[in-house]
Amino acid sequence: TSVFASVPEAPQDPILGLNELFREDPSPHKVNLGVGAYRTDENRPYVLGVVKRIEQEMAADTATVHEYLPIEGWPEFRRLSAHLVFGADAPALREERVVTLQSLSGTGSLRVVAEFLAHFYRPGTVCCIPQPTWGNHKNIFPRAGLPVREYRYYDDANRGLDYDGMVEDLEAAPTGSIVVLHACAHNPTGADPDMQQWQGVLEVVRRRRHFPLFDCAYQGFASGSFERDAAAIRLFAAATPPLEMAVTQSFAKNMGLYGERVGALHVVCAEAAVTRAVMSQLKQVARAMYSSPPGHGAAIVTRVLRDPALFAEWETEVQVMSGRIMRMRRELHQALQENGTPGNWGHVLTQIGMFSFTGLSASQCLYLRERYYIYMTSNGRISMAGLTSDKVRYLADAMKDAVL
Ligand code: PLP
Repeated sequence: TSVFASVPEAPQDPILGLNELFREDPSPHKVNLGVGAYRTDENRPYVLGVVKRIEQEMAADTATVHEYLPIEGWPEFRRLSAHLVFGADAPALREERVVTLQSLSGTGSLRVVAEFLAHFYRPGTVCCIPQPTWGNHKNIFPRAGLPVREYRYYDDANRGLDYDGMVEDLEAAPTGSIVVLHACAHNPTGADPDMQQWQGVLEVVRRRRHFPLFDCAYQGFASGSFERDAAAIRLFAAATPPLEMAVTQSFAKNMGLYGERVGALHVVCAEAAVTRAVMSQLKQVARAMYSSPPGHGAAIVTRVLRDPALFAEWETEVQVMSGRIMRMRRELHQALQENGTPGNWGHVLTQIGMFSFTGLSASQCLYLRERYYIYMTSNGRISMAGLTSDKVRYLADAMKDAVL
């Protein structure tokens, strides 16, 4: 018998499990609204034009090599990715208070910072995460040694941010807690604080001496503007006196580099004097976990970030992607009105980012899957990126049937 005979089978990841069910479904009508990746209006994965061209150049360039990157990543990538998040002239960057480690997309950056904080931040700290949040937060932090606790975030009745609940819970959290914030396009709700509310969150965080950790997975992808989507981060990073915080940055969605695992962790320190030691310990974590980050995707991102013409082209493509998503929101909302689906569906329009939190119940979601071959997570979250023009009416009619 195997030494693993008593290993219990872990539950399947709900989203990846959904994709598997979708693949096996033979129905020609099937629609996958569970995908966390952009699809074109022809329902195909999208490689950005600027990325494709750079890859062709790299393939043709005899100087392209596949050497290891340093543990902390490629210096130019680190510098330019920090500029993208904080703004090139951010005081924290000018004062050399930011430590940047290239890591494995958003997830790897979160895992590295979690382990670092578990070792070097205040012992016994809890990590406050929004309720609901991206499911993987609940895996990443405890596995790194940080217990999680939820703060109120979403108001089901109003289908929007529960700002008062959020602020109350952050106020009541133990002093110096780590507070996970979605920088923009909150996953799964699509509900973000407005700038005045962010200011309020900043005030609580400062008063309670919490440590903000911004998960930034959708910069540019939410609104089409890199500045707007980074506004909350920049507000916090520019606070005086300086606030210590961290940002995990992913290029999966905004550059369509999902599988290449390109991202960075930025730790903003109160003083430049500590950055050397912080960097040395982040490198220790990365060294023991995966040794060094992947080079290919980082080379692509760096070329885009350093060349103003390529950057402008990227920005246009990001606007095309976010624009298609916004168009799907408008079309779905209109179709729900036209077919007379009961209820108020304004939230489909006002939510931001790839997802819409429809408010459909778990049993309604199951009904949609079994009766209409429409796949979505059981919390009622649909990926607007998985919706295409030709399926809008089909979805709206199915939703009408489900809620009646
Ligand atoms: N954080 C949030 C909120 C996300 O939605 C995602 C991806 O879906 C990630 C982080 C991490 O993505 P990746 O590890 O592919 O960068």
